[in-house]
Amino acid sequence: MKLAALPQEAPPIGSPFDFRVGKAEKVDEIDMQSALESGDWGFFHSFTTGSAVDGPGVRLVAWLTGCQFRCVFCHNPDTWKLTNGLPVRLERTVEVVKQYRNSLRLMKGGLTISGGEPLLQYRFLARLFPAVKSLGVHTDLETNGYFGERLTDEDLSSIDLIMLGLKAIDRDLHKRLTGMDNKPVHEFARRLASRKHPIWIRFVIVPGWTDNMKEVNRMAEFAASLGNVQRVDVLPFHQMGRFKWEKLGMEYKMRDAQSPSREVIDQAVARFRDAGLDVI
Ligand code: SF4
Repeated sequence: MKLAALPQEAPPIGSPFDFRVGKAEKVDEIDMQSALESGDWGFFHSFTTGSAVDGPGVRLVAWLTGCQFRCVFCHNPDTWKLTNGLPVRLERTVEVVKQYRNSLRLMKGGLTISGGEPLLQYRFLARLFPAVKSLGVHTDLETNGYFGERLTDEDLSSIDLIMLGLKAIDRDLHKRLTGMDNKPVHEFARRLASRKHPIWIRFVIVPGWTDNMKEVNRMAEFAASLGNVQRVDVLPFHQMGRFKWEKLGMEYKMRDAQSPSREVIDQAVARFRDAGLDVI
């Protein structure tokens, strides 16, 4: 199937907790590659309107497909494969944002691009963010930071806020938790710090992995050392993604894990606050 032959669909409205697979699996490999290289198309898992938890104010959130991490606690493993996303033209995406522009301004919100890992679709983002910013809409990228070096300084100037998902500070723990090294993530965090680029940090308390206070302390120290962290979101692991692992037939290591207790969350929040950070 040729991408050009597809109807001009808008991003699919829905929640990241909807289960979606195979939306682009009939697209030719060569077309996929050329879409990624040109940034003419983005691959969307879902598109949420009216979110109050994905950045400042009330926001549109685009959840893109593709992720190179394999977090054992991932809530949305159906976003991992790029071909699970619906291909949507760049121009169509900008048109949709335009429709919401006035309400977004009124509600002090904007557009958040999340995933999956959006930087796998770097070319699309490098064109989308400036186009959206030129509409006067606040822009926010939620990323695991691994491919942060793909963003040029010019790209960064059209992204108002970066929400950086830090999974673990301990290098070995990070590798076991996500399958990937955290060195490039830390380098990106330091680069953003040197530019004083506003960031929020998102840290998931994963039972048996990141719920020990030694790891939390190190995370808080690292975050505080940056100097550009406006806020930290301490997020409890939950089981809302379990059905997706089951439907995909994948082994889910967190199958029987409970959400962390209120006490553990409070302790973690206190560690970040003690380090001088604002925590939600
Ligand atoms: S980075 Fe996010 S989308 Fe990717 S595996 Fe981890 S939790 Fe899932």
